[in-house]
Amino acid sequence: MQETNALRAFTDFAPVGIISTDYKGKTLYVNPCWIKLSGLSFNDALGDGWMKAVHPDDLPWLKARWEETVSACKTYSAEYRFLRPDGSVVWVMGNSTPQFNDSDELIGYIGTITDITENKEILKDLIDAKEKAEESDRLKTAFLNNISHEIRTPLNAITGFCAFLSEPGLSHEKRESFTKIIIESSDQLLLIITDIINIAAIESGHEKVCEKEFNLNSMIKMVTGRFVSRAREQYNILRYKTFLPDEEAEIFTDRTKLVQILSNLLNNSVKYTQKGGINIGYSLKDSNLEFYVKDTGMGIPENLKNQIFEVFRQVESSDTRNYGGSGLGLAISKAYVEMLGGKIWVDSEPGKGSTFYFTIPYRKTGNQQL
Ligand code: ADP
Repeated sequence: MQETNALRAFTDFAPVGIISTDYKGKTLYVNPCWIKLSGLSFNDALGDGWMKAVHPDDLPWLKARWEETVSACKTYSAEYRFLRPDGSVVWVMGNSTPQFNDSDELIGYIGTITDITENKEILKDLIDAKEKAEESDRLKTAFLNNISHEIRTPLNAITGFCAFLSEPGLSHEKRESFTKIIIESSDQLLLIITDIINIAAIESGHEKVCEKEFNLNSMIKMVTGRFVSRAREQYNILRYKTFLPDEEAEIFTDRTKLVQILSNLLNNSVKYTQKGGINIGYSLKDSNLEFYVKDTGMGIPENLKNQIFEVFRQVESSDTRNYGGSGLGLAISKAYVEMLGGKIWVDSEPGKGSTFYFTIPYRKTGNQQL
């Protein structure tokens, strides 16, 4: 009697679920912890009732395993899920072993159920972190291969054409054309180095917002002007449109960052569009300025629309790249837009074109506190 009471107290207070069955594997008893883990009542669990607690995705294989265990009179161990009546999911580890009487006859099974939800979550977080680290490692390697190519190309052009310049008897036209190549290559190199410095400043938290007053319409015109000749070389028609009258377009924000964001977006549109049209502009929506850069270029696959805003992310893999670029431009643009208090996104259809949008608060000069 004392022994039975002690055993009852033990199963009542055990921090694991305990289950006992008859020799056919039909449940005769479950302890309070089992009831708590499964969300079923004692009576619900009896016979084959315990199966009602098992997640429907795990039930078919678990049922088959349990029947096999009972018919072969084996021990068994399995990880599966309980789907509780309130919809919550609990991962459990179930173990059971056959019980024999003094004459070695099978009298039933005794089993335990341990809550392993936390272990499963930790394991999942670890696997996710490992996959993320591997992916980031892969992207960094691709970036390094890519960037060394991006730096070498203009650098080789600069050193090569500088050497040509010193050759005696060079015609005026050749001298001009070599000088143009050197200047363009230096600009290209400067852009890449600036991108690397900018992303390092963003990631280390050193980038600051530096606001001032300026006219938005003049700025849009100026930025567009910088890309006109490149767009023309690619047979693209580049147009800009302003929304506010000039006197309403005096705004207060970080001009340098805004110029950089628009330049990055225009640079991409020119790069990824052949024989098409590019439009840049803005409108006023609620109290935000909403900018757009729209092109009729190659477009972006649906599954990469969010990822391209991450550092080093490019639609083309580094081995099959047809276009130059460091994979930093959109990550820098996103960080700057967010620093200015807005958001950035893209609408795109592969083969048809892309429209990049971003917002910033409209702070008219004289209303800086808004
Ligand atoms: P990159 O230096 O490679 O252009 P970005 O960060 O500026 O780096 O852009 C990331 C990727 O997003 C690009 O490599 C390209 O695949 C894609 N992308 C960006 N803008 C456009 C666009 N206007 N049209 C098509 N693809 C684009």
